[in-house]
Amino acid sequence: MSTDLKNTIFSVNIFNTNTSQWERYTLKGLEPMPKAENLSVYELADYSSDFDKLYTTYIFTDTKTLNQWNNYRKAIGTPIRVTRAYCSVKHNKDLASKYPGQVAKYSQHMAGKALDMVPYYGNITLEQMYKIALSYWIFVEPDYSSHVHGDARDPGSPYYPIVQYGSQNVYVATCQDALYYNGYLTLTDIDGIFGDITKNAVIKFQKDHNLTPDGIVGSQTWSALLPDT
Ligand SMILES: [Zn+2]
Repeated sequence: MSTDLKNTIFSVNIFNTNTSQWERYTLKGLEPMPKAENLSVYELADYSSDFDKLYTTYIFTDTKTLNQWNNYRKAIGTPIRVTRAYCSVKHNKDLASKYPGQVAKYSQHMAGKALDMVPYYGNITLEQMYKIALSYWIFVEPDYSSHVHGDARDPGSPYYPIVQYGSQNVYVATCQDALYYNGYLTLTDIDGIFGDITKNAVIKFQKDHNLTPDGIVGSQTWSALLPDT
């Protein structure tokens, strides 16, 4: 990689699902990821080897996801690598353009709730990793030919939950990132907290797209906000 991820300064945003509070850190890429065993900050960076590009210097994830990683990593018992984690809306769209039909419109990577993982120096096989993943992640992609994808989505739903005024979680950050992608928010508005600025941006977006302008991001607004893949 030409990007010096290990010395890049990242804004790390972890939503604590027990306290329902954001915990924010400013860390170098090579520093240990807070609340995650055997993981460095840069492994969660929105970096793409496909485009040799660092998309963002912020990272969003939550403790539910990191706990699933911790338990999975412990069960694996040997080093594995994370090749893709948090992914911005822009990056997801770029990937979809490059790999048509292979990128999910509602990718859990955009919520920082998914990790793609591979063996480290062939110490374990992808098939072994896949079989163990089934016990530790809420959802595991059935295709493990190039990596094992595990995510901590809401059980049973491939879509995103409703977010609205007062909501705080990783999906609010995804919603704000999508509003930014569509030109309705600025970069500094992405904080995972659904307040007045976000609500007004959603209402404006809904009016512009002939949706009920209620400021609530449900399935129709999510569908319009997220780029098609
Ligand atoms: Zn994945």
